[in-house]
Amino acid sequence: MADKSHLLMRRKERKDKEAAEVTKAVKEVKKEGEETENNGEVPSTEAGATGGAVANGQNGDFLVELMELPPFEIITGDRIDPFVFKFQFKNVEYSSGRNKTFLCYLVDKGNTTDGLLRGYLEDEHTSCHAEEAFFTQCLPDYNPALKYTVTWYVSSSPCSACAEKIAEVLKARKNINLTIFAARLFEWEEAEIQAGLQALRTSGCKLRIMKPLDFSYTWDTFVDNEEQVLNLWEDCKENYEYYHEKLADILQ
Ligand SMILES: [Zn+2]
Repeated sequence: MADKSHLLMRRKERKDKEAAEVTKAVKEVKKEGEETENNGEVPSTEAGATGGAVANGQNGDFLVELMELPPFEIITGDRIDPFVFKFQFKNVEYSSGRNKTFLCYLVDKGNTTDGLLRGYLEDEHTSCHAEEAFFTQCLPDYNPALKYTVTWYVSSSPCSACAEKIAEVLKARKNINLTIFAARLFEWEEAEIQAGLQALRTSGCKLRIMKPLDFSYTWDTFVDNEEQVLNLWEDCKENYEYYHEKLADILQ
């Protein structure tokens, strides 16, 4: 008996040790390219005021601090890596090398106990696009009796196929109110892209180009930002104005 309990003890110790090593490994991966360890963060007051605030709930230490915030649920877990965000969301005119769409989302289901959903999706353009994945992955339990207020911050506006799909969903599900803020317009010179954006607008979707303030908000809300403030790139406002004008022309 003594031997057996000793063995169990040994096993437990080994298990604990393994768990500790896994945790350490995860932390080390997380720390790669970052200066300080992630302590999680409480959302900014700005984010809280707009109702878009949910904190990263990985670290038990700061859960207490979250008690006064509305209930939340994180679908995709981690926040976007700050370096990835700065590259993928940069509103440059020609987006070479950016072959993914990043989609940050907030979902308010109105009067439910679920609270606000927050998270992000990313895709490679070889697989299902992030826009489509949102409806299957983030709203799998769609309920026609609820009223959904959905906000997306996307690195680029939808391709024509996605625009059509989103428009179809919005026509079929009148209780989903979608606003899309896009950092860049994807291939906006193409006639079918323009038709897709127009179809989106007709389906009730609000389309906006991200302003400098929207980049800061997205950084605060969806990025593993280590409590750093986002330094906006030099031509951020200029590029916003450029895309804003193009979108206005397309939707007029
Ligand atoms: Zn697409």
